[in-house]
Amino acid sequence: MPELPEVETVRRRLEPRLVGRTVRWARIDDERLVRPEPADVIAARLEGVRIDRLERRGKHLLVRLDDGATLAVHLRMTGNLIHGADPATLAHVRAVLELDDGTLLVYTDLRRFGTWTVLEGDLEADAYLDERLGVEPLDGAFDGRALKRAFAGRRAPVKALLLDQHVVAGVGNIYADEALHRARIHPLVPAGTIAGPRLTALAEAVKVVLELGIAAQGASISDYRLPDGGFGSMQERFRVFDRQGEPCPECGRTIVKLRVAGRGTHVCPGCQRTPRVTR
Ligand SMILES: [Zn+2]
Repeated sequence: MPELPEVETVRRRLEPRLVGRTVRWARIDDERLVRPEPADVIAARLEGVRIDRLERRGKHLLVRLDDGATLAVHLRMTGNLIHGADPATLAHVRAVLELDDGTLLVYTDLRRFGTWTVLEGDLEADAYLDERLGVEPLDGAFDGRALKRAFAGRRAPVKALLLDQHVVAGVGNIYADEALHRARIHPLVPAGTIAGPRLTALAEAVKVVLELGIAAQGASISDYRLPDGGFGSMQERFRVFDRQGEPCPECGRTIVKLRVAGRGTHVCPGCQRTPRVTR
């Protein structure tokens, strides 16, 4: 569930609390979090390292360590990093790090799909991320031409490609629906048939919704929380997502919910015309 804006919010909130701190001890309660590595091996690996930087690529939070390694954290569905809380007061605790200022960083995860992966050195980290992720949408290199290259010859619905992390890193179900609505593109349109100017509009819309999401500190619609336990407010700014049955803020038509690429998808039938399928 956490998408790029939620992970970026977590990164920004944790950065001043974590950077420069050394891990005094680590405890990993759930083997699934770090498999195929054994939990005790990864916990021991993290003890004594200093946190140099917090970065993000797509939906991956990258904890850069002073020995050159990277801990790549993926929150998946329901992972949360909570700093400064007592783990005894939290449900679904899967890992705890104690820092050298005596504070605790607690990882909770109801559904247990999140992952922690230790990557030894920059080469291994770069290879791991490049294998999984396409263009970073808030980078200068992301524009209509980048989408044109990625969509060329593809018959898949445009929403399916926006969700594909190999195409655009960090976009998930919420921000794909919001971006397609702003760009006035129906999610079922075959990606490779969209004309250049529409792709420029789509790239621009992706950036706008991600920036709005970051400014709102993410969308707290299910389990996502800020690292201090607070909530994001992007859910109050949705134009179509989760608003089926309500009027479109642009044209007043009733928003409908469809299924595209296996995901609940929110569309305004006025702003986003159903594609004529030609095969
Ligand atoms: Zn509309």
